[in-house]
Order: sequence, then structure tokens, then C-alpha cells
Amino acid sequence: MSGRFAPSPTGSLHLGNLRTALVAWFAARSSGRGFLVRMEDLDRVTSSPVHERAQLEDLASLGLDWDGPVLRQSERFERYRAALTQLDDLGVLYPCYCTRKEIRAEIAAAASAPHGLVADGAYRGTCRALSARQRSALQAAGRRPALRLRTADEPVGFVDELVGMVEGQVDDVVLARADGVPAYNLAVVVDDAAQQVTQVVRGDDLLSSTPRQIYLQRLLGLPTPSYLHVPLVLGPDGTRLAKRHGAVTLAELTAGLDPPHRAARLQMVLSVLAASLGLLDGGEMVEPADLSGLFDRFSPAVLPRGPVAWPDLAAQLA
Ligand code: GLU
Repeated sequence: MSGRFAPSPTGSLHLGNLRTALVAWFAARSSGRGFLVRMEDLDRVTSSPVHERAQLEDLASLGLDWDGPVLRQSERFERYRAALTQLDDLGVLYPCYCTRKEIRAEIAAAASAPHGLVADGAYRGTCRALSARQRSALQAAGRRPALRLRTADEPVGFVDELVGMVEGQVDDVVLARADGVPAYNLAVVVDDAAQQVTQVVRGDDLLSSTPRQIYLQRLLGLPTPSYLHVPLVLGPDGTRLAKRHGAVTLAELTAGLDPPHRAARLQMVLSVLAASLGLLDGGEMVEPADLSGLFDRFSPAVLPRGPVAWPDLAAQLA
């Protein structure tokens, strides 16, 4: 019985990521669950141990602790391959030879067609019904296929602890990339079950992927955890917080400070984040070491339901 935080070690965590981690930690620890950290480093090209180390240091410096060793997805490809075999035995996988460009063009062409809530980048099924001859021709032309899940565009619903009832269409999501690397949606489902994760807290940019993951859990005979999707911190331009919005990482916000000033700065950052989650009144402060003192204030009901504006947080840190 655990909650988890599962970053991809492809860069620095910014304050939006750290705020989501804080919610995940509070939700798990205040409900007596364990708390796990998992590195989603499936892509060995974009992931690095340097980012992994920095991310773990940032979590620890805000007072977040986790149980046991950090799991790395890059070390678990065998597990994902076993799940792919299980799905293949069910007859629900098919090879897809489409390039990203072809898929983008198809989605754009179909954008005006009527449809329900469709997951981000939903595939329109071009390779679903390829004949054996068409497949061999594509292979002969040097194309290597990704593996997709064959679905019937079924709606899957769930009750999010913050958002409430969500229903989404499940599309033919990629489960293994053309270069053989297992895909995020497969790995996350396999790992959440293997780690006995009963509570998933993450950014609401992943809300539209959750029906896909629940659908996969059902096919693989795995339990479904509870879900809480946290609204993102947005930059002044309304897009999700990123480097271009200024000093948004702990490293940037504490650069050049001596230990006492650094500690004071961390306390300030933590307090501003906790206040943005409805856990502190304006001006109240909390030390990283004293976070658990706020357990009795935490519940999904105190969390703001809308996105948070980075300029509002930045102004409080100035
Ligand atoms: N690794 C994903 C990310 O960093 C999060 C996955 C998840 O929490 O399910 O966006």
C-alpha cells in the first residue's frame, strides 16, 4: 500500500513538479501509506544519472522522504516484455509502421470530424487492418514497427479524487516503440502493480492517459489504484511551467547562498508551495523537517482545483 512520485530524469525538477511531489507525499504519508520514488528513465538517450541525483536531492531538501531503494525503469525491460507477451497472447497487439509525421497529418486531417473526449495524440487506427502483404512490403522498405494496443475506442471512466468523474476514450496506444523501447503507458501500469501502488498522484497533464492505463490494468489482470491529478503550475503565457519562465528550479533559487541563507530560502520555497496547496495561511512558515506537522490539515478537499500562476508564486519568493 503505497503512493509514489515517478519523475523522468531528463532535466531539473521545477517548482511545479516539486509541488506535485509534495501533494503525492502528503497524500501517501498522511493516509499511512508508504511513499516510493520511481525513476522513469525508459529513454536512455534523454535520461541521465546526473538529473536523477539532482532530483532526489531536491526532494530530500524539501523534507520529502521515501521508502526503500529508488526503482529504475531502465532496469526492468524484462518485466515490460513479459507484459507485452501476455497482451500478445490475448491477441490485442498489432504492428504499426506509421511515422510521427504521418500520424500528425492524420490527426490534423480528422480534427474537424465529430468525436468525444479523445486522449492527447490519439491514433486513428491506420495500421489496424494491414494485410500480411502490406506488412511485408513495409518491412521490405526498411520500416520497423511500433506495437500498438488494439482497442474498440471504448470509453473508460474513473473517479479522480480531485477532479471527480472523468471519462475518456481509449485509443490504440503505443506499447513498444519502433526501436524496441517499452512505452510509458505500459511501464507505468506494470510498475504501479509490481510496487503495490494503491494511490497515484501526478500532474493533470496525464489525466487523458489514465483511461488508457486502467484499460491496460484490466487486460493484464492488475488492480486499479486511486487517482488524484494535480492542476499544473502555469507560466505567464498560460503554458505549463518551464525553464523559459525564469528561475524555476531549486538550484536557481538557491544559487550562491551560504548554508544558513540556503536553509532560509528552502524554508521559504516550501512554505510558499504549502500555502499554494491550502496547507498554510499566508505568512505562516514550515521547515522541511516539520512537514509531517501538517498532516492533519491535508485532504484532497483543501487542494485548489484550478491551475496556479507561476507569477503569483514567484512574487511571494521575491
Ligand atoms: N514520468 C512521468 C512524468 O515525469 C510521470 C508518470 C506518472 O506519474 O505516472 O511526467
